[in-house]
Amino acid sequence: MIRFESVTKRYPDGTVAVDNFDLVAPSGQITILVGPSGCGKTTCLRMINRMIDPTSGRIWLDDRDTAKVRPAKLRRGIGYVIQHAGLFPHRTIVDNVATVPLLLGTDRRTARARALELLERVGLSPELADRYPAQLSGGQQQRVGVARALAADPPVMLMDEPFSAVDPVVRAQLQEEFLRLQGELGKTIVFVTHDIDEAIKLGDQVAEMRVGGKLAQLATPA
Ligand code: ADP
Ligand code: MG
Repeated sequence: MIRFESVTKRYPDGTVAVDNFDLVAPSGQITILVGPSGCGKTTCLRMINRMIDPTSGRIWLDDRDTAKVRPAKLRRGIGYVIQHAGLFPHRTIVDNVATVPLLLGTDRRTARARALELLERVGLSPELADRYPAQLSGGQQQRVGVARALAADPPVMLMDEPFSAVDPVVRAQLQEEFLRLQGELGKTIVFVTHDIDEAIKLGDQVAEMRVGGKLAQLATPA
């Protein structure tokens, strides 16, 4: 599980993005952070993998205080998916997905095989493997982003508005596939959205935030 304990983030200019935030994201479940633009969702997410360090408070990953784990090591166990996928434009789809396994020392042939398997898992045809990101639709790029985040089989996934930039029909398909995939994989997921319908559809629990980085409500979708 992931546990925020009295976490505050104050940026150097004085902005308090997250204010005394407490939250538990249970193992194997989808926890949604939902709220308006600027309420501190992305800051919360990026503090989990230490792209941002809290000003005060602690974030625990199971029984480990993340402040005491080297960021590179921490991130090996945490997949990260963002809006517009953030793919490497000059690498093919299969190479995008194989990047992390290659960094971790997997040999080329195994990494490629694993990447092809993952592309299939997220619903992409193997014919797309040797294309470049610009040659895919927005929805397909998002699927590649999910496959890439899954490539090292991390127990934890952080997803920042991953489906917000695609049209409503594609978004609904991606949401369905995401739920199906999570049914198979059972990852611990923290998922950020500003869309309350998406929050209710995807969440096992929903943390509603309000501007100023405060937790307004934590509850099941119902
Ligand atoms: P959200 O993801 O909910 O839209 P963010 O976490 O990105 O919100 O931002 C929360 C608040 O922190 C906003 O007021 C934003 O302007 C501010 N903020 C984000 N990053 C920085 C930064 N690097 N320096 C100063 N303020 C920032
Ligand atoms: Mg954000």
